[in-house]
Amino acid sequence: ATPTAVMVATGVGANNGVLIKGGDSLERAQMVKYVIFDKTGTLTQGKATVTSAKVFTGMDRGDFLTLVASAEASSEHPLAKAILQYARHFHFFDESSPTGCSKNDSEEFKSGWLYDVSDFSALPGRGVQCFIDGKRILVGNRKLLEENDINISTEVENFVVELEESAKTGILVAYDDVLTGVLGIADPVKREAVVVIEGLWKMGVIPVMVTGDNWRTARAVAMEVGIQDVRAEIMPAGKADVVRSFQKDGSVVAMVGDGINDSPALAAADVGMAIGAGTDVAIEAANYVLMRDNLEDVITAIDLSRKTFSRIR
Ligand code: ADP
Ligand code: MG
Repeated sequence: ATPTAVMVATGVGANNGVLIKGGDSLERAQMVKYVIFDKTGTLTQGKATVTSAKVFTGMDRGDFLTLVASAEASSEHPLAKAILQYARHFHFFDESSPTGCSKNDSEEFKSGWLYDVSDFSALPGRGVQCFIDGKRILVGNRKLLEENDINISTEVENFVVELEESAKTGILVAYDDVLTGVLGIADPVKREAVVVIEGLWKMGVIPVMVTGDNWRTARAVAMEVGIQDVRAEIMPAGKADVVRSFQKDGSVVAMVGDGINDSPALAAADVGMAIGAGTDVAIEAANYVLMRDNLEDVITAIDLSRKTFSRIR
């Protein structure tokens, strides 16, 4: 393709919210064989909603939710935001108070109702840990609780499995090293996901999903959108290894992701595509920025490259 053709394509992309960093990226996209999608926030809306909360000890439900929300208050994770919203709603708009309660603009609504936490740490791919009144609280997946030797009863395990089989993520909570409750979180897939995955198959491109979430939830979501190849329970650094494993036979691999977690994988891919609002780190690591947060732009990007580099030979 002539420099002019590349310039035109870059302009067409920009008009559609597809920002291309350089002619090399534009050229590589035509040869993509695999597109590896992150799950949370990429295939799914990233607008997680708590759909259930179950307490397994004698703890009061309101106390439980406030405790969990306090622990998550410093986390940037979409799951943390969902938990906070749910707990806040319970705290301020519980059946005892009428709707339209005027408290919602106050400082208290934002943070005043939460407990003070100390020694907060975010554990990527696992959850969060902190201390409240000297007692440890862990909020996250099975792996997090197992690593900390928290006993998970059959009753709790069954509840979590049930959530996962319906494509939900189960978040486990341990307070003072006792499994206290579980939250079920739903994150619907993007409206266009099914059509885009089908489109990729038709173009001869193989879609793959990679996620830090558990196998059962991952499989349920993959099935919903039409992806067969799933890699689950992958720690953030592991996503880049997944990309490399697909590159081994010389295949050109695209990675589509939104989070900080995804930047090593975006950088490792032949074509890294940061989607949506994305984090700055992800945008930095990518060759393409898909501004509209619409998966159709993955196809637009590949199409644009194919058209640019086949027309002028
Ligand atoms: P993905 O790869 O799908 O974007 P992440 O790697 O961000 O997912 O997270 C993987 C898993 O780690 C989540 O499904 C959740 O179980 C757990 N997790 C991560 N951060 C948090 C958090 N702040 N609160 C609770 N659980 C978390
Ligand atoms: Mg993500």
